[in-house]
Formats: sequence, structure tokens, C-alpha cells
Amino acid sequence: MNPNKNLPIVRLKFKCPPDCVCKSTEIRNWYHGKCCQPSFITSKGDIFCDQEGCSHYFIKDARFQCQKAQKDKTYYQYKSISEFLMAISLAMQASDYEIKSELEKQNFSKDLLQGVLERWNY
Ligand SMILES: [Zn+2]
Ligand SMILES: [Zn+2]
Repeated sequence: MNPNKNLPIVRLKFKCPPDCVCKSTEIRNWYHGKCCQPSFITSKGDIFCDQEGCSHYFIKDARFQCQKAQKDKTYYQYKSISEFLMAISLAMQASDYEIKSELEKQNFSKDLLQGVLERWNY
């Protein structure tokens, strides 16, 4: 569930972490592995779904599994801030991000970067 309803959120659209077997830079729509509901990310870097009883988790702790990784039964995580920065900039370029205006988009990515930078090492 959404940990902070006052924060802006977007659908979680990221590429796979760089060490994923697929080696793809394609932006994917992510779903929560546990309940298969769409995943969202808040501007502080928490990922959640709308399923009752599911808890949220910080992007650093998120485990990603695309179809290729699923075949190998493996999961991948973002291991460093710089990997994450790359992913977020690609994601923000994806034009169908549902934040409408360019200003909102900029503010969201700014807040997200700041939130993640502050929390990553703790
Ligand atoms: Zn992958
Ligand atoms: Zn869930």
C-alpha cells in the first residue's frame, strides 16, 4: 500500500538492473512479484502496489525479475546510486510517464533523486 499518500507517485517504469541476463535497456512496466499488481514509486523512492496487505519497500531493496531472468530463476537489484541514476534518467525520458507537465516531471525526478541519495546509505 502507498506509504505516504501526500507524495506524488508514478507507475514504476524502469529498465532492468545492469547485471540482468537480458542486457536490455528497454523500459519495462513492473509488477509486484508477490501479488502481480502494478508497482508504483513515490517521489521518496518507495515502491508499492495497491494490493491489501502488501508492504512497501525502498528501491534499493527491490528485486527485479524480467522474463529472461525468470527463466533462470534469478533476481537483480540496483547495487549503487549511479546505476539507479542511469535508470531514473532513462525512465524520465520515457514520454508516457503519466506526470503531465514538464515541470512536474522535473520536480518529481529532483525529489526522487534527493530522497534516494539521502536514504541509500542508511
Ligand atoms: Zn532483464
Ligand atoms: Zn503487492
